[in-house]
Amino acid sequence: MLYQSSRNDKIKVTSAAAILDGLAEDGGLFCPDQPIGGLTNWKALLDLDPYDMMAAILALLLPSFSADEIKPIVKASYAGKFPSGDMTPTVSVGEDEILELFHGPTCAFKDIALSVLPGLLTAACKKCGVREKMTIVAATSGDTGKAALEGFRNVPGTGIIVFYPSDGVSPIQQRQMITQEGDNVCVCAVEGNFDDIQARVKQILEITEKNERARKSGIRLSSANSINIGRLIPQIFYYFQAYRSLVKKNRICLKEPVDFVVPTGNFGDILAGFLAKEIGLPVGRLICASNSNNVLTGFFQTGTYDCRRPFFKTVSPSMDILISSNLERLLFLLSRDPGLVSGMMHALKEKGSYTVPGELKQTLDEVFYGGFCQDDQTQKMIAGVWQRYGYLMDTHTGVAYEVAQQYKTMHPDHSKVVILSTASPFKYPSVVLESLGYGPAENEFDAMKKLSLKTGIPIPESFEDLDSRPIRHRDQIKPDGMAGYVLERAKQKAWR
Ligand SMILES: *Cc1c(COP(=O)(O)O)cnc(C)c1O
Repeated sequence: MLYQSSRNDKIKVTSAAAILDGLAEDGGLFCPDQPIGGLTNWKALLDLDPYDMMAAILALLLPSFSADEIKPIVKASYAGKFPSGDMTPTVSVGEDEILELFHGPTCAFKDIALSVLPGLLTAACKKCGVREKMTIVAATSGDTGKAALEGFRNVPGTGIIVFYPSDGVSPIQQRQMITQEGDNVCVCAVEGNFDDIQARVKQILEITEKNERARKSGIRLSSANSINIGRLIPQIFYYFQAYRSLVKKNRICLKEPVDFVVPTGNFGDILAGFLAKEIGLPVGRLICASNSNNVLTGFFQTGTYDCRRPFFKTVSPSMDILISSNLERLLFLLSRDPGLVSGMMHALKEKGSYTVPGELKQTLDEVFYGGFCQDDQTQKMIAGVWQRYGYLMDTHTGVAYEVAQQYKTMHPDHSKVVILSTASPFKYPSVVLESLGYGPAENEFDAMKKLSLKTGIPIPESFEDLDSRPIRHRDQIKPDGMAGYVLERAKQKAWR
């Protein structure tokens, strides 16, 4: 199996090359060039222990690597970083199940893919004969940056530069990044908003890709955002893992369908659920939960994607997004028509909207459902679930929980519902504290302590001494300075 551009049948590369390139040269996203159903016996995957299950899924969809090559990479990526036993526990809350994806080093679900991406990228360099040092450049609105820094820190042959908007990330997220340790890491604030920074990073990647001189001086850049298949494929794992734990707990019978509710931004997490379904896992519906930036809800209801609308800053900031990149992959996988996809993406760029053909809309309706809620509903839900069940959710999980209840009311014949929990409540402590009805805290660190005191839930270890850790990164630049900053850094042999 090869990976092809979602916009052109003729652009095809191996899975290793797709990981190195990130994006196809025509701007399309790499997708499997053939249907992935029937590639394996999905039930046999459920018998494997977590590391072997992850390795089997990676080897299946990244055929440049054999299972034996992947196994040591998986072990080195997760051992000691995630709880041993179940990396992603499923917890029963009332009649629903919550799949906790936040037990990694930075307390957000992105840890799962970003822990293994460095190993996959290094292995892909070897396969493709790339000898230069890889410099990873990332733009972040908060969670990606820290998880990428942790993933790449001290990985031989790599360096990582993270740019974040100087006043666009939460105080906790900023502190997590500027105290980052490691000899190959670099964190820089930029006076601009996330969209500016993301656009510049894409430009920088494109320019050096084409620039022979940069290549000759040994500069090789790559990206760590969710358009890279190396970030998407590892996320399939936890859908299988959740299913296995429900079978083990006798909550479902083997082969019984399960509905998954996913708090969605760039559509990467939920797309991994779709790939799990394609492989054969009995996934019923995939429920796409949004906040008031509800462009996806509109899309699943009407078949028209329209991003000409106001942008809201909400209490679930990782879902504040109007262009969900990975949706393009779903459109390709369902239609297998690169001409159609290319036309729709062109319309999105030119007009800010597109409409899918009726047949495609029907297929979407069979598998997907879109719902959203406002901040006040999210906060009410956080309080309600805490009071009724003693279970504390973060704001992103709160959105998914609320949408799950809406879905169940409208579909009384629903299957067992699993809600994906994408962050620890201690990552957004002030809002969670306020939702529970407690007075304002002095700052986020104070809120963290109060939240722990009031709920009796311990602060995650990686947050414990966050406010007293030495600050190691103080650079701040204007967007215009980003390209120069990257080139200068990439040329330096040692960063610290
Ligand atoms: C990134 C993120 C999301 C959205 O995930 P996508 O794959 O972009 O849809 C949801 N919740 C949290 C906490 C996140 O960090």
